[in-house]
Amino acid sequence: VSSLLSRCRTFKVLVIGDSGVGKTCLTHRLCAGEFPRRTEATIGVDFRERALEIDGEKIKLQLWDTAGQERFRKSLVQHYYRNVHAVLFVYDVTCPASFNGLGAWVEECRQNSLGHEIPRFLIGNKSDLRNASSTSCQVSQELAMNFAKTHAMVFFETSAKNPLKKQLNGRRGEVEEMFQQ
Ligand code: GDP
Ligand code: MG
Repeated sequence: VSSLLSRCRTFKVLVIGDSGVGKTCLTHRLCAGEFPRRTEATIGVDFRERALEIDGEKIKLQLWDTAGQERFRKSLVQHYYRNVHAVLFVYDVTCPASFNGLGAWVEECRQNSLGHEIPRFLIGNKSDLRNASSTSCQVSQELAMNFAKTHAMVFFETSAKNPLKKQLNGRRGEVEEMFQQ
């Protein structure tokens, strides 16, 4: 598998957003197909890869799961954005502060991707907690959709607790359109 991987086209995807929103769990779900039993706070950057076949073409999906800590970011951040194919901006639907924090991430992306438009996705994670009574304060889908529109992003709500295939069903057209721009 590893020699096969090295010959494939690589798609580098950055996963960014505030600490605790579920970036590591989502990355794990995408690459390993499961919710991790336990995760530790990410230090610096972790990356995971997965071989995929899309329309008969074998590709390598490379997910860069980054940590939010300032002291790690400053020196590494330009490196993250080199040759990126897409950026996932992740927030937690039950944590408005993580949504409000997105502006800073969008700005960081803008500063580090001068000259080219990277396809961008807005990901509202922990959608499984949407109707839990204990979480009364949530980010509305309407608010998120407006944000996505303003920043030319495709918006998804996800739960790393559940298989993603079903959650992304029927949205392929929008994603393809984003990559064609
Ligand atoms: P990160 O700091 O953004 O990498 O966040 P983690 O992936 O480490 O997750 C932070 C916490 O949120 C952990 O306790 C996870 O178990 C939990 N978590 C992550 N994704 C989900 C999700 O989709 N649903 C629920 N209910 N919990 C989640
Ligand atoms: Mg993490």
